[in-house]
Amino acid sequence: MNQINRDTVAGPPTTSLRRALRILGDPWTMLILKEAFNGERRFSGFQKKLNIPKQTLSLRLTHLCHEQMMYRRQVSPTHTTLEYALTAKAFDLQDAMYSIWLWHEANPSDVSVLPFEIVHRSCGQRLSARYCCMHCRDEITSGSVSVEHTHPLQFDPRDRLARRNDAAVTAAGDGGADNMVAASLVGDIVCNEILYMLFRSPSHLGAIADGLDLGMSVARGRLEKLRLLGLVEERSEGRKLTYSVLPKAEKFYPLLMSISDWGDRWCNGGQPPPEVRVHSCGELVHGRFCCDHCGGWISRENVYVRPRQGDGEEEGIS
Ligand SMILES: [Zn+2]
Ligand SMILES: [Zn+2]
Repeated sequence: MNQINRDTVAGPPTTSLRRALRILGDPWTMLILKEAFNGERRFSGFQKKLNIPKQTLSLRLTHLCHEQMMYRRQVSPTHTTLEYALTAKAFDLQDAMYSIWLWHEANPSDVSVLPFEIVHRSCGQRLSARYCCMHCRDEITSGSVSVEHTHPLQFDPRDRLARRNDAAVTAAGDGGADNMVAASLVGDIVCNEILYMLFRSPSHLGAIADGLDLGMSVARGRLEKLRLLGLVEERSEGRKLTYSVLPKAEKFYPLLMSISDWGDRWCNGGQPPPEVRVHSCGELVHGRFCCDHCGGWISRENVYVRPRQGDGEEEGIS
């Protein structure tokens, strides 16, 4: 554990989001985790569900085991077959997984990425929830959170290398913005960081590239991708292009918050978090999803997953 933690905090202070995305920031990794949350445990099962090359799957599973998100165990004492089980660290990502699910519910695409639905056991209703502050119970929105860096922002040169590799990023996105699923958007580190930055305030291209230590063309490419996804809007102000988030992106905010929070819990190696996020009530942001139907908190213990029912009502939630 120490070894891995030391590795993840070896660089200078960055954001909580970036620390977390060093582990999660890969589209396949997120898709594998999504299937694992949905109950898949077998190598062959992942392969079939994700249609992922064996070699790629094997590398990603090894990565997840190395990061202590998964471990290999025997299916049963009498069975030598191995399966991949999730660790507490992975289960602690539950809010991020609900965010992804809710994102897909709100933004259905032609690709059927949600063959299952999540049901809140307490009220028996299909999951529909808002991300709320555990102190004041008000919703956590981009407008109600302020972010303060506890260290000046610095960048680790390794990050820049990692982020140059956008071929891998688009590979799992099924190609093309239309089919882009939230899980693979999460896997695009740069897109996440741009959104996270723009949620705080609109910025122009140069400031985004500088602020995130990106090459201009990388920044421009990702902004274009976010624009095509309807998450970001581009406006020209004088000779500068200014970017801001569109309302559709707000649904993405709980995902960034829950991943940052997870990063603080698991990726700091005992160090203080690189930033603090404060809710409008004055307390540090600790969010949870709160059921729209019964008002109860959503957690792994009080939800279950079932195959999707009745196509007719698929658009019913909004
Ligand atoms: Zn609050
Ligand atoms: Zn409920």
